[in-house]
Amino acid sequence: MAVELYAFTCGFLTLPRAFLLKGESGMITVPVPSYLIVHPKGRVLFDTGLHEKELENPADYAGDVIARYHTFHFSAGEEIGARLRAIGVDPDGINIVVNSHLHFDHCGGNAQLPNADILIQRRELEHARATGSTNGYLVTDWDTGQGFREVDGEHDIFGDGTVVCLPTYGHTPGHQSLRVQTELGGEYILCGDACYLKDSLEQMHAPGIIVDREAALAVFRKFRELQELGARIMFGHDPDFWKSIPQAPVRLG
Ligand SMILES: [Zn+2]
Repeated sequence: MAVELYAFTCGFLTLPRAFLLKGESGMITVPVPSYLIVHPKGRVLFDTGLHEKELENPADYAGDVIARYHTFHFSAGEEIGARLRAIGVDPDGINIVVNSHLHFDHCGGNAQLPNADILIQRRELEHARATGSTNGYLVTDWDTGQGFREVDGEHDIFGDGTVVCLPTYGHTPGHQSLRVQTELGGEYILCGDACYLKDSLEQMHAPGIIVDREAALAVFRKFRELQELGARIMFGHDPDFWKSIPQAPVRLG
């Protein structure tokens, strides 16, 4: 099965480095990635970036707490719907959205994909429902009317091993990553926030903000194993790494 993988940058955020690397100081400006996977049986998006309402005055939509710690660099044309249309893909034709988790910079674009099923770890959805609009979650980002496909642990989306959800709990209670087997570039691990930076993995450096540190470090070890087996690790918010990643319409894998 020929599977194609494309990367998009849906804006940037400036935030404290200590959020990503415990104990560090200063600020860091990071990309907000989204990926399109074209499989013969369907079109999948992994993460959807920021909400359209954050294009104008983010604090009005996201609230004071998120706006206090994040400067948004997000302009019209960078939202996921526009990114897709720019390469000739109709957002209405996306079949499945896989959200790594339901923080505002990973599911804000869900509303722009009205016909997609939302594929999420059951425990992440339960956590988001219990949390409400606090701690990086905004109910209006993910409660957007589409149906949910709730899964528990590893899940092979098309049943052929090419696009597989991997449970990577730790950043949040129900975080997941996506393993994609492409014809062109081999295997990719789309980390989401399970591993922010190349340095996180190389130095086993945990983030400053984390739900379960031990679980997150176990995920790092798993990523290292996959890396040794030849998988390409796609770090979640690494500005230097991201400069080397071809953007759609150029195919990544
Ligand atoms: Zn994030």
